[in-house]
Amino acid sequence: VSESEKFRVEYWELEERKLRRRPRPKALAGKVAFVTGGASGIGRATCRALAAQGACVVVADRDHEGARQLAKELGGADVAHAVHVDVSDEASIRAAVEVACLAFGGIDVVVNNAGLSQSAPLEETTAEMWDLQFDVMARGSFLVSREAARVLRAQGHGGDIVYIVSKNAVFAGPANVAYSSAKAAQAHQVRLLAAELGPTGVRVNGVNPDGVVRGSGIFAGGWGAQRAAVYGVAEEDLGQYYAQRTLLKQEVLPEHVGAAVVALVDGSLPLTTGLLVPVDGGVPQAFLR
Ligand code: NAD
Repeated sequence: VSESEKFRVEYWELEERKLRRRPRPKALAGKVAFVTGGASGIGRATCRALAAQGACVVVADRDHEGARQLAKELGGADVAHAVHVDVSDEASIRAAVEVACLAFGGIDVVVNNAGLSQSAPLEETTAEMWDLQFDVMARGSFLVSREAARVLRAQGHGGDIVYIVSKNAVFAGPANVAYSSAKAAQAHQVRLLAAELGPTGVRVNGVNPDGVVRGSGIFAGGWGAQRAAVYGVAEEDLGQYYAQRTLLKQEVLPEHVGAAVVALVDGSLPLTTGLLVPVDGGVPQAFLR
């Protein structure tokens, strides 16, 4: 290696090291995110992931104490705000969005995450179970998106709406007709709203997670026991059961879903709208459950 080449190599190595050293601006600095169901599970991990990238976060949940605790953990009033919301109640949504706008001067990212699960075999699924899940997930996310669209359009600089849907919106699993139907309704909202809001610069995308067992309130609150019975495994082995049936043999954690939401809104995918991103470890093509 000649002296001049050696100099060139050293010069660029040094420059690279300087770049590594320079603090990089956070991808979501200056943005405000409104996350429904943000106090627990996937919503909480999403709030943490958005805040880690510099976003101010409004933790919107009907569990106000949980939302307050998370807002405090994220750094308090300058960067996070807890607001009570019941997504099955129009007035409550309007008030929560208004509070969010007052707290941080606007909204850039809305995450439709609030949800619950009440699953049973078809003949044991009551009309009340169906109505509750449609109220919170299908109707709730429609109402939140409608309110968000009004704010985003008035602001005039686009924005992002992200739905936390489910693999169940695409694949047919046993004994959860009401939950999966509500999730399928959300999946179609993603496509419909992407089409309708696209001309205003608002992008609408979604994430389809598979069985997030650890850290999920839904699993702790009965879904886990029900799924374990359906698949014939012990409840404590459910995470491993889900992991083993994927291509990557890995358990899906709430943090994986939070990372996917960040990737959808941080500018990495600027022309992507109407997309449902699977976060499921990969599903074998021949998979039928
Ligand atoms: P979770 O129970 O940990 O969190 C749900 C949150 O939503 C809670 O904080 C709850 O208080 C809130 N919530 C429920 N009803 C509400 C309402 N009416 N108004 C406002 N907030 C309300 O559950 P999770 O597993 O983190 O689920 C979050 C979302 O992810 C849900 O939409 C769920 O369907 C979806 N999802 C979960 C999984 C999974 O395996 N856990 C898989 C795919 C999709």
